[in-house]
Amino acid sequence: MGKIKVLPEEVVAKIAAGEVIERPGSVVKELVENSLDAGATMISILLRNGGKSLIRVVDNGEGMDREDTANALFRYATSKIGSLKDMSGIKSLGFRGEALPSIAAVSRFTIITKDASIHLGTEIRGEAGRIEEVKDSERPIGTTVEVRDLFFNLPVRRKFLKSERIEYGEIIDMVNRLSIAHPQTAFRLYRDGVLAFDYPSCSDLKDRTSQVCPREWREALIPLTIEQEEWQINGFIGKPEITRNSRSGQFFFVNQRPVKILSFTFALQHSFDGTLPQGRFPIAVLFLHINPVNVDVNIHPHKREVRIFNEGAIQSIMVKGIREALRVKGSPPLINLSGTKEKVVSVNIPAQRPLAQGTFYGRGEEMVPPIPTVYHLPRQETVSTIAEDRPASFRRLNDQNEVTPPSALEKLRWGRIYGQLKSSYILIEVEDGLMVIDQHAAHERIVYEEILHSLSKGSSPSQTLLVPLLLHLDGRESAVLEEYLPILSKMGFGINELGNNSFSIDARPSFLKAEEVFETLRDFIQDVSMGRSRGPLVETFDEAARIIACKSRSIKAKEELTFVEIKELIQRLIRANQPFTCPHGRPTVIKLTTRELEAKFLR
Ligand code: ADP
Ligand code: MG
Repeated sequence: MGKIKVLPEEVVAKIAAGEVIERPGSVVKELVENSLDAGATMISILLRNGGKSLIRVVDNGEGMDREDTANALFRYATSKIGSLKDMSGIKSLGFRGEALPSIAAVSRFTIITKDASIHLGTEIRGEAGRIEEVKDSERPIGTTVEVRDLFFNLPVRRKFLKSERIEYGEIIDMVNRLSIAHPQTAFRLYRDGVLAFDYPSCSDLKDRTSQVCPREWREALIPLTIEQEEWQINGFIGKPEITRNSRSGQFFFVNQRPVKILSFTFALQHSFDGTLPQGRFPIAVLFLHINPVNVDVNIHPHKREVRIFNEGAIQSIMVKGIREALRVKGSPPLINLSGTKEKVVSVNIPAQRPLAQGTFYGRGEEMVPPIPTVYHLPRQETVSTIAEDRPASFRRLNDQNEVTPPSALEKLRWGRIYGQLKSSYILIEVEDGLMVIDQHAAHERIVYEEILHSLSKGSSPSQTLLVPLLLHLDGRESAVLEEYLPILSKMGFGINELGNNSFSIDARPSFLKAEEVFETLRDFIQDVSMGRSRGPLVETFDEAARIIACKSRSIKAKEELTFVEIKELIQRLIRANQPFTCPHGRPTVIKLTTRELEAKFLR
């Protein structure tokens, strides 16, 4: 008896503060959220020593009168919710009334604020949660909160703070996230007396994104809108060629609140499956707008995570939406002649074989007659004739009745085949330059998607081999083959065990030609058994499909193709979901713009 005591208020406050305020970044987050909730259009943040010695947030929001200012420093004092009922449908960033008292409990704290109702503002100064001084203060409408010596009375926590650089990094990331969600509000951040960034107020997300995000993103962002009755998603996703080695380029928001949502992270990654190299992460700025009653924001002490009603359904529609946007708006990476990729310019076409040339789709299906030996650029008349023949739909109107420029896919579709370079690259003239297709990578993409497509339908159509093939393997290889038998047979391989590590193959998937079955299978088994496949052991259909696609030899590098073969390859590529990257994430197509050429020739 008598062992259990109710803790003194001072200790309770410190414990509570420990949950809400973990580091300088949490202070900045709470203060900036308060400023945003107060309707500020201008927020400046001043930091010293990574926020450890000073954090000052100044806003021009609605401010408070004296009574409210004093109340705001009590735990669970908030103007944002009044009853349990209000807990569902929270629209403000704050709602618990915990932040100010928690910050005040672990720092030397000053708040100066004035609202429209009073002539003179109020200044309250406190230390370790005790109010030391209350006085009048002159200031325009708005609020300044100053937090000095964070955790001075909580040495354990102070000891565990990271380096200034890391704390700054956290703060800047967090302010960036909040600023992206509030483009109309201007943000300014000073770091040890130096202006680190200044984002003037702007009208839309796109402008704010380009203030906040790296320059190279600007050209690489694809707008995304998904409209459903119950919810909407809008924002941007990055083209697959702009990726990061972490998820630092991913910004998710639910009703303007920056959040981490695992299911969205997965949805995003999944949408890019087979377009990114191992270990690379796409970039995205995505906003979910949903009735607040369908969101529980009260599941995380820092309000970093939220729970959403019907998350699974949103996730799968999101995947479809992102894939479609990537398909329609994706484009090949540009060749930068002043950069390091100059090799591509030496156009040296082997002359031993007639070069096929012509357009596809564009003018019925007709071809310009092949040119016998030497490669010529088509004469001007030829080019203009093709241009005139382009249908009016070449430039389409979008919903707002504006002319939209053709997508990279459309450009490719209307392109003119020039021929092959080094029996490996296909050259296509397009409206604004030259596209170069890596025929092997393109073929990998096509086969990969055809495999996945047939697998998604249950099984792949398979064709009987006239003469069954025999495969003799060693012990390890035959173990691998046995393991993958179910996947391979779903793909359309007919494989029978003969004992003694020997197998007969009597059927092939329709995406493979009879003469490539043996080598493809053998290479697949060898790759997997040697652990040579990229990433961990082949576990999924997807990975198996990737390897089979890579091993299938029907079109390899160093193979001369006829015009008809080139045309078929490109038609199949255009139909692919992600035509511009191979399943390992390498580009299938790159583009040299006429503008780039002109610049190089100093025109
Ligand atoms: P919460 O944001 O969860 O309500 P806080 O402790 O962060 O709790 O703030 C308590 C109250 O103080 C808020 O509800 C708000 O009324 C007031 N407040 C805090 N910061 C500001 C500010 N910058 N401008 C105007 N009012 C503020
Ligand atoms: Mg708050």
